[in-house]
Amino acid sequence: MIADKNRPQHSSNIYPKILLIDDVQLNLIAVETLLKPLQAEIITANNGNLGLAKALEHDDIALILLDVNMPEMDGFEVARLLNDIQETANIPIIFLTASQPNEQHQLQAYKNGAVDYILKPLNPDVLISKVKIFINIWTMHFNMEQEIARRIIAEQEIEHLAMHDPLTQLPNRWHIHESMTQAISRAKRLNGKLAVLFLDLDGFKKINDELGHIAGDLFLKEISARFKRNIRSFDLIARYGGDEFIIVLTDIDDTLSLTNKLTKLTQAAAKAIYWHGKEMQAGVSIGVSLYPEHGTDSGSLIHCADNAMYQAKQAGRNTFRFYTQSLNDALQRKILLETHLRKALEFGELEVYYQPIVDTNTGEVIGAEALLRWFNKQLGTIAPDEFIKIAEDIGIIHQLGIWVLKEAVKVMQLHPLLSIAINVSALQFNNDQLIDAIQDYLAKGVIQARQIVVEITEGILLENTNQVQQRLECIKNKGVLLSIDDFGTGYSALSYLKRCPVNLLKIDRSFIIGVPDDRENATLIKGIIAMAHALGMQVVAEGVETAEQWLFLRELNCNTSQGYHFSPPLSLTQFNQYLKNSSSESASLQSQIRMPS
Ligand code: C2E
Ligand code: MG
Ligand code: MG
Repeated sequence: MIADKNRPQHSSNIYPKILLIDDVQLNLIAVETLLKPLQAEIITANNGNLGLAKALEHDDIALILLDVNMPEMDGFEVARLLNDIQETANIPIIFLTASQPNEQHQLQAYKNGAVDYILKPLNPDVLISKVKIFINIWTMHFNMEQEIARRIIAEQEIEHLAMHDPLTQLPNRWHIHESMTQAISRAKRLNGKLAVLFLDLDGFKKINDELGHIAGDLFLKEISARFKRNIRSFDLIARYGGDEFIIVLTDIDDTLSLTNKLTKLTQAAAKAIYWHGKEMQAGVSIGVSLYPEHGTDSGSLIHCADNAMYQAKQAGRNTFRFYTQSLNDALQRKILLETHLRKALEFGELEVYYQPIVDTNTGEVIGAEALLRWFNKQLGTIAPDEFIKIAEDIGIIHQLGIWVLKEAVKVMQLHPLLSIAINVSALQFNNDQLIDAIQDYLAKGVIQARQIVVEITEGILLENTNQVQQRLECIKNKGVLLSIDDFGTGYSALSYLKRCPVNLLKIDRSFIIGVPDDRENATLIKGIIAMAHALGMQVVAEGVETAEQWLFLRELNCNTSQGYHFSPPLSLTQFNQYLKNSSSESASLQSQIRMPS
């Protein structure tokens, strides 16, 4: 078909309709033939009633060409009726008439929606031009409506996108605050309770890292579908972040049903998902806060649930924890410590103390353990058991460790015959920085390998990965002594010890307490010392507080000892003084021995 420039340009393939109403069949055929080239569908009716029926039946009628002179119902009557019916009232009508109607008729016709007259016999050009105008009007109107509809849909889509997570189609973090606010005001009105669950997947990062993002996305979709299946239609669920979800359980009746629900959610998350023959498995840690007990707005309820979630993580994952005030206090303190700890090094609030370690047999100082101290004007003295963990959490442990090493190296240079033990946490051990720094000091000849002891915990050995093994070997090959701190509190199997290149076992203080009277501890210590010696390791006892304990350890050939009985941890000045005193003591002891009787 040749394109006609005069044809209306439609944005879609929908054409308008032209309804012809004329009682003379020949007229219908003639007009239809004339209008055929236009982009319109022609509908015909050969009487008024049928015309009305067709006008009602069809949408998109751009124009009605209506014969005036018809038996039974004339054109004016049809126009009046069309005008009375809501659905057809706005369809323009052109009358076809053999004679010019009188003025009264014309007026009446205009009132009833007629827009024009065409006199018969029809002039084809006039007819086509007039019809084209109405087709164009209809098309413009149609396009406008389409555009409006498109915009409404686009706006709805934008709103949906802004409020939903594209992957899981769940409401997102902005949306959940809005719906939570509604749920809270409803609960307030009805005196109801809400449980806000903060869910964080355990081990999702591993899935993403090892199997890739496609697998990760699939996993998230499946997990969110499972969560959804485990809640009721009127509960709320949202994806809050990467692998974080919020669920709000409404109409909470009792704690038992709530804990049952929580158990179900953890079970649902822990079930494996298979993807291309690979098993993907995670778990979920859930923190729970309650309305109205823990907060009355979405922000604080989510915050409390988030805090409780961290407790769940620490409790061993794939479990849940309820928010408590004491948890809040602990968190407040943690935040306070975090803030100050970041500045502690810069503000000179840190100091390394040295606790002497003696030869158990002679009581002679052979070394010391470097122990970090933090004093803050506002917070006072903070124990390392508390702040080392925080330093790990905020990532400054490596910086602190290197600083402790630097301080300890100064002492090693000052006292070349002593060996100084430094504590290295699992996180530090799994990072190159500290080990590299030690190697650097050794390579530059600043210190000798035997001057430094690296104290690690049993946990590191339990990991027993190739990387751990390599690091241990590497340190040992340099001639640095490796010591297992707090031995006996972890789960070290003897088999591990045999395989690990460890030189020293440091028996945990908890075993020393109560010996020699505590038979059980006494037996354990005997066993540990015998085993260590059999494996070619030396034994250090920590927390030696009494002369009896010392004697007991001496009898068992425990190599070295450390504890308040000999000295508490000392500042560097005190430590230097202590060394001076103890060397003059041993000198006088020596001279007494040499004195002739
Ligand atoms: P640890 O390595 O087991 O250190 C021994 C802890 O026992 C020290 O506590 C010491 O003050 C204490 N202690 C020593 N003798 C006795 C005694 O006779 N009786 C009693 N009741 N306690 C005694 P401190 O200094 O509070 O350190 C606690 C822990 O913090 C250390 O345990 C160590 O694991 C960690 N730590 C300390 N400094 C550092 C450091 O520079 N880096 C790392 N990663 N951890 C450190
Ligand atoms: Mg230690
Ligand atoms: Mg210890």
